[in-house]
Amino acid sequence: MKLLMIFPHPDDEVYGAAGTILNLTTKGETVGLVTLTHGEKGRTLGLADGPEELAKVRSQELKNCLEVLGIQVHEHHHFPDGGLKQHDFEELVQVCMDAISRHRPEILLTFQPNGSNGHPDHVTTSKVVLEAFERLGKPCTLWFYAGDEPYNEELAKIHLYPNVRFNVIHHIAQKLRAISMHRTQALSTVDFFRRAAERIPEETFHQYHPELQEQTVIPT
Ligand SMILES: [Zn+2]
Repeated sequence: MKLLMIFPHPDDEVYGAAGTILNLTTKGETVGLVTLTHGEKGRTLGLADGPEELAKVRSQELKNCLEVLGIQVHEHHHFPDGGLKQHDFEELVQVCMDAISRHRPEILLTFQPNGSNGHPDHVTTSKVVLEAFERLGKPCTLWFYAGDEPYNEELAKIHLYPNVRFNVIHHIAQKLRAISMHRTQALSTVDFFRRAAERIPEETFHQYHPELQEQTVIPT
């Protein structure tokens, strides 16, 4: 497998990585995703009646998105949305170790330690993946989502800046289509556009392992 992503919520895979995923899947590379929750605590926008139905709706939205992205391997867990920090840490680490061991990705992608926007599920996922990665002896390249602008002053103190960049302008239509599959997340979408529109045509990551000495721009 070329790329394995581990994220807490349906939609975490799409805003910052859809173009990079499309770069790979359109070349016939295998990309996998582990989603830890069903996002049942999110907004419903009137499209679902309560958390249980929202979980189902978001699960279907995610499937539709993955179809657009050409992602072949998906594992969807049902850990509590908004409650990963309180969940048994060891169980989460084991799930990640198991996925990494089975899929043997060349590149692993997750959130950076500040969780990008500080969301506790993002922060916990980063911690859990890093622990799994280290216990397995750092078996692959590890990337974190990394924008040029930290989310706020507080998170800026522990922000890891991009050192890997992909111009994905040639996949822009498919990327927007993939984003649009997450209909219940329409507000997150416009918030992302307002805050980080430059990350639509260019996707940026922080390569954590192996360490990069200089910023790398990867032509696509
Ligand atoms: Zn999220």
